[in-house]
Amino acid sequence: MSRITSLVRPNIAALAPYSTARDEYDGPLGIFLDANESPYQNGYNRYPDPHQSVLKDRLCTLKGIRKENLFLGNGSDEAIDLVFRIFCEPGKDNAVIISPSYGMYGVAAAINDVEVRPVRLGDDFSLDSEKLLGTCDPRTKVIFLCSPNNPSGNAFPKGQLLDICDRFPGIVVVDEAYVDFSEKGSLAAEASSREGLIVLQTLSKARAMAGLRIGMAISSPEIIRLMSMVKYPYNLSRAAMEKAMEFLEKKIDLQVDTIINERERLASVLLHFPFVRKVFPSDANFLLTRVDDADSLYGYLLDNGIIVRNRSRVPGCEGCLRLTVGLPGENEALLNALEHYMV
Ligand code: PMP
Repeated sequence: MSRITSLVRPNIAALAPYSTARDEYDGPLGIFLDANESPYQNGYNRYPDPHQSVLKDRLCTLKGIRKENLFLGNGSDEAIDLVFRIFCEPGKDNAVIISPSYGMYGVAAAINDVEVRPVRLGDDFSLDSEKLLGTCDPRTKVIFLCSPNNPSGNAFPKGQLLDICDRFPGIVVVDEAYVDFSEKGSLAAEASSREGLIVLQTLSKARAMAGLRIGMAISSPEIIRLMSMVKYPYNLSRAAMEKAMEFLEKKIDLQVDTIINERERLASVLLHFPFVRKVFPSDANFLLTRVDDADSLYGYLLDNGIIVRNRSRVPGCEGCLRLTVGLPGENEALLNALEHYMV
């Protein structure tokens, strides 16, 4: 039995997956009387490809990976949920997460009745590997890491993440939703060959397609097979896949450099305001900022039509607002509003 097989929940290991009509015949031509669809053509009367072959080919070329290493989900949120459903026995297994981090790890764990063990990052949001691994026990199936981390913005050193993968005998998820904004690099190339490593990426952030809901998991063929078996058969709509192909073919300038330049400009200007205590270094498209009275500043910005994320009640982020980098004009409007803020 492979190491991965021994981690899989017994009901999943024994699962006979749903076989779609289009699993049995996937030719383009024919008289389709197999799937109880409407025969009247409108572009969407047929079910979409459950294997998402066209979009996967395109993304594999883009990422330099093989199809057997790529899973596509309804946002990377779907992949997060699938990891719990495949590997964690409800009420028995646990997952170790870093704190603060992306809230969906905890929510997906709660939905799946899986205990989460948060490991606090340092005051500078650095990660203590010994503390992390020391929190794991024999029932820890998964460690969730997020790099660059939301909401702190920092990426962890690649060597540290790989060392954690080497030392932990379960599944390590590295969520790279914001990796396109970071110079610290991706673990995607390692995920194809390293047993137990799952790298999550998304079209929602730098690729500007949050409304389409397309996320990626990159991992070994064994894990990708499990995820494909457990997902809803038609988890990506035809409309979303077509639109994503259209955007990817157009090779639109994603303005990542502009966003990074704006991030750095915002960070340096923000520090001049007397009520700004700290702007944490960011490898993402947002800045976590500690201010004197986060609730008051949040309310003031809201009154001025500027919506930011109040993270001040998140442990480790006391007094902090998270500011997404917008268009240069929007960032200017934020700075202008801050100029007129009276503490
Ligand atoms: N991971 C992180 C760290 C995120 O911040 C988010 C969304 N804010 C996601 C995953 C979810 O992304 P998606 O739109 O692909 O579901």
